[in-house]
Amino acid sequence: MSTIDTLPPLRDVIAAHGLTARKSMGQNFLLDLNLTAKIARQAGDLRGHDVLEIGPGPGGLTRGLLAEGARRVLAIEKDARCLAALGDISAAYPDRLTVLNADALDLDTSAHLTPPIRVVSNLPYNVGTELLVRWLTPPQWPPFWDSLTLMFQKEVAQRIVAQPGGKAYGRLAILSQWRADARIVMELPPEAFTPPPKVRSAVVHLQALDEPRFPADAKTLSRIVAAAFNQRRKMLRAALKGVAPDIEDRILAAGLKPTDRAEQVSIEGFCALARQVAG
Ligand code: SAM
Repeated sequence: MSTIDTLPPLRDVIAAHGLTARKSMGQNFLLDLNLTAKIARQAGDLRGHDVLEIGPGPGGLTRGLLAEGARRVLAIEKDARCLAALGDISAAYPDRLTVLNADALDLDTSAHLTPPIRVVSNLPYNVGTELLVRWLTPPQWPPFWDSLTLMFQKEVAQRIVAQPGGKAYGRLAILSQWRADARIVMELPPEAFTPPPKVRSAVVHLQALDEPRFPADAKTLSRIVAAAFNQRRKMLRAALKGVAPDIEDRILAAGLKPTDRAEQVSIEGFCALARQVAG
């Protein structure tokens, strides 16, 4: 099972360093190194890339990323108990692994990385969506990363790749698909993790586009989408009442119907409306 490198099996690493999983830290560890190498491969060719990993824990995915040829891995881990185990991996892969003991929400990670950059992480559930939204809404596009390969609860993964017309479609789908290609590349049952979570998980791969799919001002689009989905059962003309006094005219000028509901409107439709509102 543990054939990808010469380091000890992860169960031994966890026992040696007393890394009992903590729920408060969102800790569900992957212990099968063949599986972590498979997840690393979903990110594409890692050779010649810096990889950012949030939450390496005992280092299962980190070892997968290094074994798959990442030029350098920058791993940000909040739980100081994991540092000794990660230090052993650093020693086995000289000059290729940098570990920072920090909260990923407090750090400008791009300052520590050299392009091209891929982000690959089994994210802690409590900060996963917040990190994704930050990566998708940088001040400038293209962003610092080429691709994101991220493990989420399956329900979150489905919201990222959702198409118009269903309950899963909303702000996360629009933010994700406006400027990236997004698809689910793997599904994992609870038993793949220690301890097993209550729900299934999925890996999503997002590839940044050079240009947004449709022109729109990012801030205006974000404001409209937030307002529209905040009251998703209402018609656009009611949900967007606060956006502009003549919103009904602007909805019509964008080629939409004032009676449409947010979940029926495509990304192209929201971008057309953002242009009408900004104009
Ligand atoms: N990558 C490991 C694996 O696949 O087995 C662990 C994944 S576990 C789901 C999430 C990891 O994120 C834990 O190691 C946890 O300590 C760490 N973590 C939680 N919150 C964090 C934060 N705000 N910043 C950085 N790391 C965090």
